[in-house]
Amino acid sequence: MNCNVCNKPIEPGSAFCPGCGNKLVQNNQKMVKVVFHRAKRFTGCAVTFDVFIDNQPIGSLKNNGTLEVMLSVGAHHVIFDMWSATSPIDIMVPDCNTLNVEVALEIGLMTNKIVVLSTTAI
Ligand SMILES: [Zn+2]
Repeated sequence: MNCNVCNKPIEPGSAFCPGCGNKLVQNNQKMVKVVFHRAKRFTGCAVTFDVFIDNQPIGSLKNNGTLEVMLSVGAHHVIFDMWSATSPIDIMVPDCNTLNVEVALEIGLMTNKIVVLSTTAI
């Protein structure tokens, strides 16, 4: 393997290029099970929202529903999309086995939005 910036040869497993200090991306990046759970609420309970992570459709979340996805450790951009509004949320996936993300639909006067109630790493 060679550095993609300066093309110097790099020892396998190196985190940085010895030539230019370029941070190297590891192919065997750890994946974490992320479980989204939507808190049961009576307001807006009929509204289902679609979940997109890093611009990929993952599935949909119903009232009191769960959605599981494997994500790499690091930051991910999550978008909750529904009939009346979209809620973009950035989540940080830590190095753990499972990350539980509790979300809820909040009905507003003008717009509805999804809020993250808690994140728990196990
Ligand atoms: Zn380099």
